[in-house]
Amino acid sequence: MSREPTLVTLPDRAITADHEPASPARFVDVAASAEVAAARRRWSVPIDHLTRAGVERGVVVEPAKLALVFLGRQRLESWYPATTNRPHYWTRTQVAHLLDLDVPNVCAELRIIRPEVAVEVWLLIVSLQADGLLHTDSDDLDDLLAPLRCAGVDEHGRLADLDPFALHPIAGRCRCFEPTDTQIRLGLEARPTPIEPASRRAG
Ligand SMILES: [Zn+2]
Repeated sequence: MSREPTLVTLPDRAITADHEPASPARFVDVAASAEVAAARRRWSVPIDHLTRAGVERGVVVEPAKLALVFLGRQRLESWYPATTNRPHYWTRTQVAHLLDLDVPNVCAELRIIRPEVAVEVWLLIVSLQADGLLHTDSDDLDDLLAPLRCAGVDEHGRLADLDPFALHPIAGRCRCFEPTDTQIRLGLEARPTPIEPASRRAG
């Protein structure tokens, strides 16, 4: 857990690129990432709160993974302008986007071995609901949890023993990437969504 991060920085690679083949990027565990450690400090209050909430609910979450989820959420907000001035505003498509695009992309950018974070996202959503913090324009809890059910998380926050790379096992029939009627009525998300599920790949 205390390993020093061994990220390969872009400038280093650029300097050597003309002289020798670029070395393969070294991927690190989420707990060894300097950027994730910085995110843990930045969001220490909600991460500590969620970690305690996880203990109370009997689910195991890792603070480093929660920090990764917060980094993913920050990335997600550039895709969803309606999140501006709507604290804790969540929709079904946002949850799907976070799980399937933002967290994987943050991992790729920061050269982190991609961990499973579905339980951490589940805990974030149910805790916001339980704490009365979800923005009133958010989707209903049942809709928000739909992408997490597709990821194998049950109503108690337990991760089923599914193929972790089987994205949306009822693909073609689930509606995780479709705006809900609530969001369409509010004019905050429109059909058709340009967002397509990313293929879930190892690493
Ligand atoms: Zn789905």
